Amino acid sequence: MALIVQKYGGSSVANCDLIKGIADHVIACKRQGDDIVVVLSAMSGETDRFIDMARQVQPRPDSRELDVLMAAGEQITTSLFAMAVREKGFKATSFLGYQIPIDTDSAHGKARILDISTKKLNAAIKSGHIPVVAGFQGVTPRGNITTLGRGGSDTTAVAVAVVLNADICEIYTDVDGVYTTDPHICPNARKIDRISYEEMMEMASLGAKVLDIRSVEFAMRYGMPVHVRSSFIYNTGTHVVKEDEIMEQVLVSGVTYSRNEARITITKVPDNPGIAASIFNPISDANIVVDMIIQNTRASDLTDMTFTIPRRDYDQAMEIVKKVAKQIGAETAAGDCGIAKVSIVGVGMRNHAGVASKMFDILARHGINILMISTSEIKISCVIEEKYTELAVRALHEEFGLDNG
Ligand code: ADP
Ligand code: ASP
Ligand code: MG
Repeated sequence: MALIVQKYGGSSVANCDLIKGIADHVIACKRQGDDIVVVLSAMSGETDRFIDMARQVQPRPDSRELDVLMAAGEQITTSLFAMAVREKGFKATSFLGYQIPIDTDSAHGKARILDISTKKLNAAIKSGHIPVVAGFQGVTPRGNITTLGRGGSDTTAVAVAVVLNADICEIYTDVDGVYTTDPHICPNARKIDRISYEEMMEMASLGAKVLDIRSVEFAMRYGMPVHVRSSFIYNTGTHVVKEDEIMEQVLVSGVTYSRNEARITITKVPDNPGIAASIFNPISDANIVVDMIIQNTRASDLTDMTFTIPRRDYDQAMEIVKKVAKQIGAETAAGDCGIAKVSIVGVGMRNHAGVASKMFDILARHGINILMISTSEIKISCVIEEKYTELAVRALHEEFGLDNG
């Protein structure tokens, strides 16, 4: 008898009929003798709809109130799901983040999980109930509701699986696994049977939203096996496992893209010790994550600094940077949201030279200009103009030999 945490994403619980269908599947698993804990997202589109409503009322919504609003979507699906299970004669209880509780820090909109109590969940399981946990939400020590960042239900699921010592965490979604690239923009994408935590973490952090990055971080840290699969066809999906459990070593495992990028350039920055800190400290104090940074040395003792941040933080970052630019005597701060990041990922790159130059060559042959580059042991990322995103992804996918058939 296994303990399985099953997480269903927004498109899998998009309406009452789908919720009833999933209740059937969960009950069938339970009938086989396993204990099941369910984690749910909001119905697809709901979280976006809430954010849109908030902006109609307050253009830059108060972060505490926005979290109260955003957490509402998961309250709806968990209660409906528990009703669906009960209607079929089985026992289920919904749990919101604060009821469990799922303790988080107080970074509204991107809170980190600090602790999850297992008491109520274990008691529910013991009494034959299927606990139905609201994904994406938690509570601060002062009792404020928080959310974990978009796509955060995956993180709730893996974290719950870890604290309950589950045998596996299953992530049910609208595709039947992790593909070599987003199957919705590249019809030739191939399903990957097994992928390492490291590669999955890079792919998630570089835009493959099929798994939230923090869910993969948790899974890797605690060795929790994750199975990404479809809630529409119940076949085997993709297993996310330790690297040494994978036999086949390929050079490039996947291509990712992210349109969630913006860049800011500060020109004629005095080239003194401490300048980078005075620019980036206030940005990190505002909880904005800087990704790539380029500093160009000029002939004089002035320098230009360019960096990328998530697009949603652009207005706030620009406000901070303009203030800092004035303080440090830099010339201007300018920005641009029309960019995207395309990346190739693969543990096989560790031992191979020439992968980066091949990537640059492919982009050049398609007339795509590279604006910024960053590399790590197992990935290469290029920032390009957003309008070339799909062209770049398809070209890289084909020329690195990932196309199907
Ligand atoms: P859910 O609502 O179930 O959490 P998401 O929309 O967050 O689902 O994630 C699933 C989506 O991720 C897919 O529909 C697909 O478009 C996208 N995606 C991006 N990259 C990949 C990839 N490499 N493999 C599979 N899906 C991907
Ligand atoms: N409902 C949240 C979102 O749309 C969390 C999730 O779906 O994982 O981001
Ligand atoms: Mg998701």
